[in-house]
Amino acid sequence: MSTTLPTEVRALDGLPFDNRFTRDLPADTEVSLRRRQVHGAAFSRQEPTPTAAPRTIAWSPEVAELLGLDPEVCASDDFAAVFAGSRVPAGADPFAACYGGHQFGNWAGQLGDGRAIALGEITTPRAGHQTLQLKGAGPTPYSRTADGRAVLRSSVREFLCSEAMHHLGVPTTRALSLVATGDLVVRDVLYDGNPKPEPGAVVCRVAPSFTRFGTFQLPASRDDVELLRELVAFTIRTDFPHLGDDGATPLADLVPTWFAEVGRRTAETVVHWMRVGFVHGVLNTDNLSILGLTIDYGPYGWLESFDPGWTPNTTDAGQRRYRYGTQPQVVHWNLLQLANALAHLVTDVEPLQRALDAYGEAYQVGFEAMMAERLGWGAWQDGDRELVDQLFEAMQATETDQVLFFRDLASVPVAADATDDDRLAALADAFYAPAELVGDVRATVATWLRAWAERVRTGGVTDDAERRRTMDAVNPRYVLRNYLAQEAIDAAEAGDESLVLELLDVLRTPYAEQPGRERFAAKRPEWARHRVGCSMLSCSS
Ligand code: AMP
Ligand code: MG
Repeated sequence: MSTTLPTEVRALDGLPFDNRFTRDLPADTEVSLRRRQVHGAAFSRQEPTPTAAPRTIAWSPEVAELLGLDPEVCASDDFAAVFAGSRVPAGADPFAACYGGHQFGNWAGQLGDGRAIALGEITTPRAGHQTLQLKGAGPTPYSRTADGRAVLRSSVREFLCSEAMHHLGVPTTRALSLVATGDLVVRDVLYDGNPKPEPGAVVCRVAPSFTRFGTFQLPASRDDVELLRELVAFTIRTDFPHLGDDGATPLADLVPTWFAEVGRRTAETVVHWMRVGFVHGVLNTDNLSILGLTIDYGPYGWLESFDPGWTPNTTDAGQRRYRYGTQPQVVHWNLLQLANALAHLVTDVEPLQRALDAYGEAYQVGFEAMMAERLGWGAWQDGDRELVDQLFEAMQATETDQVLFFRDLASVPVAADATDDDRLAALADAFYAPAELVGDVRATVATWLRAWAERVRTGGVTDDAERRRTMDAVNPRYVLRNYLAQEAIDAAEAGDESLVLELLDVLRTPYAEQPGRERFAAKRPEWARHRVGCSMLSCSS
C-alpha cells in the first residue's frame, strides 16, 4: 500500500488501487462465463463487458471528492468509458462476489453478483478503502439466466436514491456515476408477457465493502467452515479493525462482539428508514450489508401517505413481507439467519443470542429517541408510547402525507390558548383529502395535536425557534418522492436528463427550505396514485 495518498486523481489510470478482497481471499479457480456453483471461493474474476456508446449522464460531486477525483476527470470521455465498464483502468482486478441468501423467507442457495462487477478497492484521502462497483456491467458466472445488464430507469433510481439517502443522514452505499451505455436491454416491466427494449445504463456504486449477510450464509450452508472463517476474519480485519486490534483474541471470541456491532449498526439504519419513510422493498439477506448500509436499491419506495402496511414492490404484493411497518421485524429475522451462519464458528451460541436481543433493544431505544426528537419533545418520557401510537392512528384517520405532516408540525402553535383551527391550519398541506377533516376524523387529529402541544410544554423543547430548528434537522422537506423519480425517468427516457441533475441537486440539502423549488416538496399528484413506477414497482430492473 502506498504511504502518500494522492489528494487529486487526474487520470483514471492513476487510481490508487489496493485490492485487499481479491488479494487476501480465495478466488474461483475457473475464469469463464459458464454459469456455475462456485465452491471454496469468495469471488470469481470477471471483466465488465464493453458497451456500445458510453456517455455520462450524471456524477456525484460529493462522491468524486470523497474519492479524490479531479472534476475534470469526471467530465472526461475516459470517465464514461471506465464507469460503463468499457475500459478497465490500470490496477483494477475486476471480480464478481459469491454469496447466497434468503429470498422472501426461503433459502435460495447461491446468488452472487449477477450483474455487479467490482473494479477493486482504492485508497482515498479521507475515507479509507472504497470499493468501486459497476452495476449493470455485463454477465458473470452468477448471472444464471439473466443478462447482467441494468436499465436506465432502475439506474436513475439507484443513483438518485443512494445520494438522497446519504444527504438525509442515512447510512448507505454511495453512487459515483450514472452512465448511459448506448445498448438496449429487454425487460418485461410487470412480468406480464410484454417485454420491450429499454435504454441501458451502469451505476458505479461506492462503499467500503459490499459484503452481505448472505456472504457468510453461503459457506455456512455448505458446511465450508474454513471459507466462512476466512471471510469473517477478513471482514473484521478490514471493515471492523477496532475489534481485532490486539491481534491476539481468538476469532471465536470476536464473533459475538462483531455480530453485536453489526446488529447495532443495522438497528440504527432501520431507525433512519422509519424516520424518513423509506421502504426498501426487498429485504432479502443478500440485500443486507454487513456494514449496516442501505444496499441494493431495487423496487424501493418512499412512504407518502402514512400507511404501515405499504410496500411498493408488486413482486411482494401477495405476502407483503417487506412493508414499511414490518421492516424492523424482518431485519431481526435476517440477523437471526446471520447468527445461524456464524454459529458454526463458536462453541457457545448464548452470546450470539444476547447480541441478537441487543438488536431489538437498540432499535427500540433508537426509535424512541428519534420520535422524541422529530416531535420536538426533547428526550423520550414514560407515556410517550401511547401518544405515538395515537399519532399513527390519527395519521391514518384520513390520508396524511407523512413528510409534510412532520415537517409542518414545527409550525403548529403549542400555546395552551391556541385553537384547534390554528393548529390544523398549519398542517393543511399534509392532507390528501382535506374535505374529510370533519366530524370524528377532525376530532381525532385535533385531539392528538392538543396532546402533542401539551407534551411539548411539559418537558419538550419549549422555545419556538429552537424547536423548529431541532425538528427541521430531522424532518426533511425534500425526499425522493416516487413520482419525482418517475418524472425524471420519463424525461430521461425521452432524451431530457436535466431533471435527474436537478433532483440530484435538490436532494443535496433535504432539510433546508429551497425557495423556488417548492414543487419538489409537493405531495403526490393524483396521476401518480396507481401509476407503474410510482406506487407499483417490480423487481424487473
Ligand atoms: P436482487 O433482487 O437485485 O437482489 O438480485 C438477486 C440476484 O439476482 C442477485 O444475484 C443479482 O445479481 C441477480 N440479478 C438481478 N438482476 C440480474 C440481471 N439482469 N442479470 C444478472 N443477474 C441479475
Ligand atoms: Mg441484491
